[in-house]
Amino acid sequence: MKIICVGRNYAAHARELNNTVEEKPVIFLKPETALIPGRQPFFYPAFSTDVHYETELVIRICKVGKNIAEKFAHRYYEEITLGIDFTARDLQQELKTKGLPWELAKGFDGSAPVGKFIHKDSIGKPVSDLRFTMLLNGEEKQSGHTADMIFSVDKIIAFVSTFYTLKIGDLIFTGTPQGVGPVKPGDVIDASLEGEQLLQVKVR
Ligand code: MG
Repeated sequence: MKIICVGRNYAAHARELNNTVEEKPVIFLKPETALIPGRQPFFYPAFSTDVHYETELVIRICKVGKNIAEKFAHRYYEEITLGIDFTARDLQQELKTKGLPWELAKGFDGSAPVGKFIHKDSIGKPVSDLRFTMLLNGEEKQSGHTADMIFSVDKIIAFVSTFYTLKIGDLIFTGTPQGVGPVKPGDVIDASLEGEQLLQVKVR
């Protein structure tokens, strides 16, 4: 499986990192080893001193597809959850400055914890109208609404499937709202979708 991620999909977050808002989605991948198995903690990597959380809606692909039309994209995912796109911001900044790919700063082991998946129809609201929040040590740090996405989930699926064949089990991280910030060992992240807690990550 692969983990496809969208960058700068909320205008306020793009601005907080002094990035421009792009006309096409900014896409990068994380390897399968970025997932954290079971309920294991996130181990702070030795190569960074500025790892940031980015809380994101995550969808799981349920059907193989290529060149998927936007109007049919909703058929290609059923389950959704929240995940953290952990980012070694110091390393990313260094790579960006040099015009180099971000992969090392975004795809390292444990950089993609995901929560409990729920069926998108179980929420009673469309995926384009969901609020999610993230608490760091009990204090709210991020609050996002999927209506604020620059590229909707269906648009993302249509776009990425022109480049990558989507396979069952692939995950798409759909971008983070504003409020990103650093974590340190001992921190606990809790993330909720429409008030239902789906994810907890302990930083070690
Ligand atoms: Mg992100």
